[in-house]
Amino acid sequence: MGEVKGFLKYKREEYTKLPAEDRLKNWDEFTSLPAEDSLRKQGSRCMDCGVPFCQWGCPIGNIIPSWNDLVSKGLWKEALERLHKTNNFPEFTGRVCPAPCENSCTLSINNPAVSIKNIELAIIERAYEEGRICAEPPKSRTGMKIAVVGSGPAGLACADQLNKKGHKVTVLEKNEVVGGLLTLGIPNFKLDKAVVERRVKRMEQEGVVFRTGVEVGVALSLDELRQQNDAVVLCGGAEQPRDLQVPGREMKGIYFAMTYLAQRTRRLMDIKTDIKEDIDAKGKRVVVLGGGDTGSDCVGSANRQGALWVKQFELMPRPPQERTANNPWPHWALIQRTSTSHEEGCERDYSISTKGFTGQDGLLTGLQAVRLDWSQKAPEGRPLMKEVAGSEFNVECDLVFLALGFLGPVQKGLIASSGVALDARGNVRADRNKMTSIPGVFTAGDMTRGQSLVVWAIHEGRAAAEGVHAYLNAKSMEKSTAKKGGL
Ligand SMILES: Cc1cc2nc3c(=O)[nH]c(=O)nc-3n(C[C@H](O)[C@H](O)[C@H](O)COP(=O)(O)OP(=O)(O)OC[C@H]3O[C@@H](n4cnc5c(N)ncnc54)[C@H](O)[C@@H]3O)c2cc1C
Repeated sequence: MGEVKGFLKYKREEYTKLPAEDRLKNWDEFTSLPAEDSLRKQGSRCMDCGVPFCQWGCPIGNIIPSWNDLVSKGLWKEALERLHKTNNFPEFTGRVCPAPCENSCTLSINNPAVSIKNIELAIIERAYEEGRICAEPPKSRTGMKIAVVGSGPAGLACADQLNKKGHKVTVLEKNEVVGGLLTLGIPNFKLDKAVVERRVKRMEQEGVVFRTGVEVGVALSLDELRQQNDAVVLCGGAEQPRDLQVPGREMKGIYFAMTYLAQRTRRLMDIKTDIKEDIDAKGKRVVVLGGGDTGSDCVGSANRQGALWVKQFELMPRPPQERTANNPWPHWALIQRTSTSHEEGCERDYSISTKGFTGQDGLLTGLQAVRLDWSQKAPEGRPLMKEVAGSEFNVECDLVFLALGFLGPVQKGLIASSGVALDARGNVRADRNKMTSIPGVFTAGDMTRGQSLVVWAIHEGRAAAEGVHAYLNAKSMEKSTAKKGGL
């Protein structure tokens, strides 16, 4: 602990953000980290509280008190070593993680939490600036080959871990670019694509092979991959969007959020888009249906394109401003969160169900909705959704983005053709070693846990890598015992 009473002396300080009107001029990231002196003080706000609830709250178990302490002492190199022990990609989580660790920080019981996410980002960005992130290929190779299907954070973390263990890893990606939702989902203003490219380049230098434009289950079967490799890891994400089957859904002007977001990023990256028409919110009245991260990214994107106005409707009630009695620390706080995209201009409304869309000549002109009452509960305690009689209303609009969540992995292609077993929610089923129902085929990330977070995908990828490594070790032990005539 840098300073015993640091938490009493220093106030929480966060990164600075450009004013909203400046951010909207382009698609660039807009935050700047505090100066070194200030970051060191922030590190010393960590109380070394004995039981590190922050570490418990972090899905990858980051050893947070340890690197807070090292940063407070200016030991940046040592802090990076500690951080990399649990997190392959702090430059991603330091930008986009909702920081469950800060929700669990002991200081946050009655004070603003330690600014853990900023410190994490500072540790890794400083290391890049100072040229300390160099390719470190494994010293020897095992001769084992592994194929990872999908290059999102789960696939990348899994590939990185397995490569470090000396296995030969090839990542197969159906898109023309690597990164999964890090690249084509999360907008550039939250995560600059150069940040993803920088890490991928380092992984290539370390020996990981990336093959883009290859859809497994279509261009290449899972059986073929199994024959060519000692193990396969499926990290294909949960890309099936939830639709809204109401009258008028077929109208032009209604799009899945991911169709819009991916097109925006593809245009920025100067790569061809899968749909010809340009989805442009300039001068348009935009309604985003769904109050989560994906919806918020649509809000930020539509405002950057110059939308006339943006509204965001959520089915569930408005969350409370503060923790309720049944949602105590150190759990994730179920409170209303305002993203930087919301700050840039958005009217949010809650407890709204969309009943239909209206239009003229096939072109969207508005939506019809009704207010909901969630106050009643089913006998088992689940809130009941009830439409409020007479509360129907119409909103004139030109564009609607459906950000209603995801239903799990796309079934067509890889899943249908491989016959891999699914769980009750339609996700790929895995045992505790992350092995699927097919021997030697593993899975990680959203494909098995459902749409989640980048930090969970990294955790999953690392766990699958452990499972694969143990499986391969057992296999080679079997082989050598058989060779010696032991079996
Ligand atoms: C718009 C949006 C914004 C988000 N914002 C945040 C955020 O701010 N913070 C956060 O923590 N989380 C966020 N998330 C969630 C987070 O991005 C995901 O949980 C995470 O990316 C999951 O990682 P993954 O590797 O499992 O899957 P993905 O990132 O979805 O990657 C899967 C990859 O597999 C490829 N693939 C699929 N099938 C095949 C196949 N058959 N052959 C070859 N390749 C295949 C896909 O093309 C894709 O590239 C967001 C999600 C969305 C949709």
